[in-house]
Amino acid sequence: MSTAVERVLRRVEEAREEIVQFAAQLVRIPTVNPPGEHYRECAETIGRQLVACGFEVELIETTGRPEHTAQYPRVNVVGTRRSSEPGPTVHLNGHFDVVPAGGGWSLEPFGGEIRDGRLYGRGSADMKGGIAAALFAAEALRRAGVSTGGTIEISGTVDEESGGFAGVAHLAEIGRIAAGRTDYVIIPEPLDPDRICVGHRGVWWHRLTVRGKMAHGSMPFLGVNAIDKAAALLERIRREIDEGLQRTRTSMPIEPPEARRATLNVNAIRGGQFDQALQTPCVADRCEIVLDRRFLPEETLDEVRAQVQAVLAAARAGDPDLDVELEDLLVVEPVRTPSDSPLIAALDRSVREVLGRPAECIASPGTYDHKHVARIAGIEHCVAYGPGRLVQAHQADEWCGVQDLVDATKVLALTLLELLQPPP
Ligand SMILES: [Zn+2]
Repeated sequence: MSTAVERVLRRVEEAREEIVQFAAQLVRIPTVNPPGEHYRECAETIGRQLVACGFEVELIETTGRPEHTAQYPRVNVVGTRRSSEPGPTVHLNGHFDVVPAGGGWSLEPFGGEIRDGRLYGRGSADMKGGIAAALFAAEALRRAGVSTGGTIEISGTVDEESGGFAGVAHLAEIGRIAAGRTDYVIIPEPLDPDRICVGHRGVWWHRLTVRGKMAHGSMPFLGVNAIDKAAALLERIRREIDEGLQRTRTSMPIEPPEARRATLNVNAIRGGQFDQALQTPCVADRCEIVLDRRFLPEETLDEVRAQVQAVLAAARAGDPDLDVELEDLLVVEPVRTPSDSPLIAALDRSVREVLGRPAECIASPGTYDHKHVARIAGIEHCVAYGPGRLVQAHQADEWCGVQDLVDATKVLALTLLELLQPPP
């Protein structure tokens, strides 16, 4: 008599070719974001596979948001499979939008080519391989005929790469993913098949707008050059904020370890006649700087913002001509899964069973849809775990290993088996 675990693992092994082919089929749909191409086609393709795996399927369009247009509709897909026994609801969510291919490819970015044990293509790791793994994990339980309780939900959502507002955030806002209804959420993002990702730092994007005074470029002494003022300000921020950030440390196990501190990145600068083909001699009267500050769970947003305000106040005190304004562009609070979450324990046991070694708990350097699950849906038991490797995300010649795909499917299947055990 084989055990339920053995039967499930065997069913995944037998589905190896189907898993890879389904992931390749998704890679061949170029769901490039921006602008958000082929979303409906991809949602319907995932929907058909969900139906074939015994799920009820809903397509959920995000109407009422400016990015949802006739040309680029925002279409999400959610599948539900209930068992007759009571039990928790486990929701597996993958985004199906991908970043543009970019340059430097040695093969067709949307060809879905399988070669030397790897599935190549934009989105293979981030994260269509993860969607395939989630789907076939649920299917392996069904094919193995094991008895489980509760409900499995699998969603394919849009726009994660641009913030996820029409995707997971929308499903959370309409209560489709919500505390009280959804117990556990697993996001198969590419963070390596032996790692469980338990959260991320906070994000504060902000803009500094410096205003100067226009004058003829041959007589700059008659104006106030906003670019010069912005450059001095930036230098001050570098000295008075960024140098200090290099000495901060977080208890979060962020990978890579260089990101285990607060960071500051200058995202954009524009000033003067930046978009003019022909230049006229003028003193720049406006310069904008966009900054990306990643903050730690050990910091509050108010403290982080106060650092910048203090620098601005000191700069203004030393320079009566300085006219600068600070605006928030985006705020994401840090999230962290409780370390005693049953979800982490179940995934860890499954990784040991499949890979023969313990899983590493890490945190992500950047944010992903976990923020919406935690902040809007109010669900604390959420992690990312999937087949793709972190270093492959957004790279030229992106790939997902076929063995990684199969291993992660096994891990997800055993995790579902554990979480959905019917009451004795
Ligand atoms: Zn992703």
